[in-house]
Amino acid sequence: MEHRLWSSGASDKNKAMVEQLQRYGIIRSSKVVEVMEAIDRGLFVPPGGSPYFDSPMPIGYNATISAPHMHAACLELLEKNLQPGMRALDVGSGTGYLTACFALMVGSEGRAVGVEHIPELVASSIENIKKSAAAPQLTDGSLSIHIADGREGWPELAPYDAIHVGAAAPQIPEALVEQLKPGGRMVIPVGTVFQELKVVDKKLDGSVSIRDETSVRYVPLTSKEAQLHAD
Ligand code: SAH
Repeated sequence: MEHRLWSSGASDKNKAMVEQLQRYGIIRSSKVVEVMEAIDRGLFVPPGGSPYFDSPMPIGYNATISAPHMHAACLELLEKNLQPGMRALDVGSGTGYLTACFALMVGSEGRAVGVEHIPELVASSIENIKKSAAAPQLTDGSLSIHIADGREGWPELAPYDAIHVGAAAPQIPEALVEQLKPGGRMVIPVGTVFQELKVVDKKLDGSVSIRDETSVRYVPLTSKEAQLHAD
């Protein structure tokens, strides 16, 4: 695989982090191993943070990059919906880390779309991705990040095989369910104080099933104003 070329340059610490997630049983898929080895998390965590430590890290604007085990768990849950040629939407793309992972998984025949409402984070995420193994996909157009309110999804490229939401919604936004393809899957944290990571599957007949995967703690999916003024 061409991604191997890149993983040889990725840091040993990134590889050790991925190995640990495998040992803990959080990563089981060899494809997820390959992609998390290829995308060096160190490129996405701002200076002063500990990119390989299994914890969320502040990225400014009252946001955090999710912990490695959460990124890994979401990649595992979405793996079947991130096959080459498929379409993936990453709502609240923040640093761009997971959008870059999605891009490698769906490849240049697919589409990985990030939506983030803080323009400065969109700009820095694009710079991060440019340094990563997903850089060629920014150029060929299979990876894009947009400044928008992610509660509306990104209708231009819908429907999606996979939707990931990186911030906790008070309830599941209807627009996102609509933009899910039949056979598609969405992973979304839902709740305010107590949050559950929900797995939303749209069946081929269009009906939707929802289950709780695990309890989580994410920053809120909210308006830009509410996020910037939260203290
Ligand atoms: N998954 C990303 C970021 C997680 S933090 C990562 O791991 O790097 C959640 C992100 O959601 C933040 O960047 C925040 O700015 C963004 N966000 C919150 N509400 C949003 C909304 N309504 N629309 C778009 N982005 C939103």
